[in-house]
Amino acid sequence: MVRFRIHSGKLAPLRAHPVPIMIHPEHQRRAYLQAMGIDVWMPRDAAEPVEETDHVQAKGLDWPELRDCVANCTRCELSASRTNTVFGVGNPEADWLIIGEAPGAEEDRRGEPFVGRAGQLLDQMLFATGQSRENVFIANILKCRPPDNRDPKPVETAACREYLERQIELIQPKIILAVGKIAAQNLLGTDDPVGRMRGRPHDLNGIPLIVTYHPAYLLRSPTQKHKSWSDLCLAARLAAEGSA
Ligand code: URA
Repeated sequence: MVRFRIHSGKLAPLRAHPVPIMIHPEHQRRAYLQAMGIDVWMPRDAAEPVEETDHVQAKGLDWPELRDCVANCTRCELSASRTNTVFGVGNPEADWLIIGEAPGAEEDRRGEPFVGRAGQLLDQMLFATGQSRENVFIANILKCRPPDNRDPKPVETAACREYLERQIELIQPKIILAVGKIAAQNLLGTDDPVGRMRGRPHDLNGIPLIVTYHPAYLLRSPTQKHKSWSDLCLAARLAAEGSA
C-alpha cells in the first residue's frame, strides 16, 4: 500500500525507506570533489577544522581501545597516505617516555617508531643511560607519516594530540624526553629553539620534561652529541628522584 504525506501543500508518496545521509570526513569529501574535477576553494588562511564527524574521544580509553582508535583514525588527511599508523612501542608502565616528531618512511612501513638510522642512534643513547627500547615507551607527536617527511601541520598535531595525552595518562612516566624541535615545541607550546629549551627541566602537567636534540640532527652534527648526553644524564637524575 502506498501512503502519502503532505509536502509543499501537495500529496506526495511517503518513502518506505528513507534515503541514508552519508557524512564523509571533510578530506574524503574534498578528495571526491577533486576526483570529479570540481575545484574546492578555501579561504587562504582557513585552518582545517578537526573532524567532528569521526572524532572518537580518546579520554578514558584503555590501551587496546586506544590502539584500535588510532589504527582506525581518519581525523586528518594523513590517514589517506599512511601505510600503517605508528602507535608507539615499549613498556606501558615505563618510567621514561620518549617523544619524537612523526614516523618516517621506514616507521610508516613497519608501524613502529624510530626504526631507521635515527632510531638506532636513539637506542644507543638510551643504552648508555641504562635504558632500552623495551623498558621505555617511545611515541611521536603524530601517529601517521607526513608525506615526504615534511613538518607536521598544526591541524595534524591538533587532531593527534589527545592520543598522546591519553598515552601519557596511562603510562604516568617519571620523565618525558622530547627529542627535537617539533616534539618540544608542540609539547611545551612555544616557538623556542631546542638550544634554548634544553639543559633544564620543564613541567608537563606535573611530569618533568627534558628537551634534547633529535637523533637525526645528531647524525648530521655529531659534535653536538655531548649536549644530548648531558640532557640524558639530567633526565636519568630526575627519573631517579621521581622513583625515590
Ligand atoms: N623521527 C621521529 O621523530 N620519529 C620516528 O618515529 C622516526 C624518526
